[in-house]
Amino acid sequence: MEQRVSTNQICMKDWFDSPAFQRAYHCDAALGAFLAPGGTVFRLWAPTAERVVLRLFQEGTGGAPRQELGLTREEKGLWTLRVPENLDGVYYDYLVTVDGVTRRTADPYARACGLNGNRSMVINLARTDPEGWEADVPPPLPPETVIYEIHVKDFSWDTASGVKPQWRGKFKALTQTGTTLNGDGVHPTCLDYLKTLGVTHVQLMPSFDYGSVDEGGDPEQFNWGYDPVNYNVPEGSYATDPRDGAVRVRELKEAVQALHRAGLRVIMDVVYNHTYHLDSWLWRTVPWYYYRQNEDGPPSAGSGCGNDLATERSMCAKYILDSVLYWAEEYHIDGFRFDLMGLLDVELMNRIRATLDSRYGRGEKMMLGEPWSAGGTAARPGTVLGDWSGVRRMDGHIAVFCDATRDAVKGGLSRPDARGFVNGGGLDAEKLACCLRGWAGRNTLAPSQTVSYLSAHDDWTLWDRLVLTLDRARRFDALTPEVLRANRLAAAINLTCQGSLFLLSGEEFGRTKQGVRNTYNAPLSLNRLDWNRAWENRALADYYRGLLALRKQLPGLCDKSTLAAARLLRVAAPARDCAAVLLDNSGDSPWRRLFLAYNAGETKVSLDLPEGSWDLLADGDSSTRWQSPTEATGPVTLPPVSALILGQK
Ligand code: CA
Repeated sequence: MEQRVSTNQICMKDWFDSPAFQRAYHCDAALGAFLAPGGTVFRLWAPTAERVVLRLFQEGTGGAPRQELGLTREEKGLWTLRVPENLDGVYYDYLVTVDGVTRRTADPYARACGLNGNRSMVINLARTDPEGWEADVPPPLPPETVIYEIHVKDFSWDTASGVKPQWRGKFKALTQTGTTLNGDGVHPTCLDYLKTLGVTHVQLMPSFDYGSVDEGGDPEQFNWGYDPVNYNVPEGSYATDPRDGAVRVRELKEAVQALHRAGLRVIMDVVYNHTYHLDSWLWRTVPWYYYRQNEDGPPSAGSGCGNDLATERSMCAKYILDSVLYWAEEYHIDGFRFDLMGLLDVELMNRIRATLDSRYGRGEKMMLGEPWSAGGTAARPGTVLGDWSGVRRMDGHIAVFCDATRDAVKGGLSRPDARGFVNGGGLDAEKLACCLRGWAGRNTLAPSQTVSYLSAHDDWTLWDRLVLTLDRARRFDALTPEVLRANRLAAAINLTCQGSLFLLSGEEFGRTKQGVRNTYNAPLSLNRLDWNRAWENRALADYYRGLLALRKQLPGLCDKSTLAAARLLRVAAPARDCAAVLLDNSGDSPWRRLFLAYNAGETKVSLDLPEGSWDLLADGDSSTRWQSPTEATGPVTLPPVSALILGQK
């Protein structure tokens, strides 16, 4: 439903932005529905409302209310009600009247809900804890962060995944161990596969309740889920029963617990920049307060989705902070990936960082985000946004996706056939050095602020980009040697950058979406992780695996401090499209110096090594030579389109 803009609402924009409004109505109370001794307490912040009525239901969807009860207005725009009854498992919504118009809304602070999130549910969270939950802790922080991005549904949808049919595409699939390719008992898939890969964090694409999939509808529906409905409730289509509000809560906790037991930390993709529709629970409760408006009144749409949250307003900031803290505390989530962070303000990002640090320890909970937006946004004047221009004003422990490295290595997003270092675009040694440093000293303060990556759910997969640029016949399924070679070089560059590391699931086995750029609502046949391909292209996955294992032994690359940039002792361009780097690797490692060389050219290059004896750790064919290194002294030959990693004791 589109909201009409009236003159009154334009006046409200200035009022909502004013310090006077914040002084009058900022409310620090815990909001939502809570079980208390002998009863249930409801608290809703609705400063512009003249009346608020609570409706209680037996069912999560359909049926008439069993009771309607008025809330009482307290200070600071807070409405409250205490019902002398334990309402665990009871569904509810509100009727909120503003300016004579009554709107039905679910609770923006709902922690459980019915089918499709249309009604909220009171929940005793203790009964959703899986067995052993109180002892659940994440694995210790690893020497390097390697993030693996998965979508809950596409991760296990493939029948070859070997996951139980009723669990495929669900949170439950993340709890199943012992799965093998087509159940062959030999080749691990899903959780067991992840354990072998060397990644340290699993990033779940939106797993809060989103609106684009009908939870009671066709199981073949697919969407990435960047369309939030209930920010503090898990998505129902990933639960085995979306109708019972407790099931999705329990099953996401079980997934987190299983990932922790597998030695993996869990990052959640959070989308606080926009809601599915402007006509959201936030809007219906306090019309316009949570949204930015352009000067003439209509909603600002820098998200590209028709609305932007006004994160700079204090109760919107509180909403987002409360939500992050809730996921961290209740679900033991270890990190947050902020979608379109360029629309969120730096002050809020830094406040989230400081609060997580004070509760859990410095850097224990990871924060990363996209330092851009889809367009301009109408934030309150003076707001500093978390886009590239704001990165240096953000806490050093908030990392951003480094599109500059991504584009330099494989080509930019302007055209499907744009080229980068590895696919014929030319290798610029100075630019490569910037990538390796995580752009420290330029766009960032230190590699701690950078996530280095080649592919994510957005845009062409790395494999597809390489096929589009290197194979005229565009055979996406074929394992073409030229494409494999370029993929290995790309991986070698990315995995020797000093920023934290990030992979789209399946990048390591040449994931293809048949050249389709944006698959947010494409069929599962295109989106599903292809476990047969993981086996067919296992040599490429092994190359990634070896590099990841090596990487964790190289302090010169894992160093995230402001001193890391100085570890690049020398950068040279010994030949056209070739770069060589001498790197200080002092720290806990057998090798005190590293020599890294990358040849993107079509001819082999003969390289003089710096003085002394060197161990060959990896080359263009194998990333596991470090397991029994052979000695090398210069000159060495660097074949076309390949990388070389040497270490000196
Ligand atoms: Ca949903």
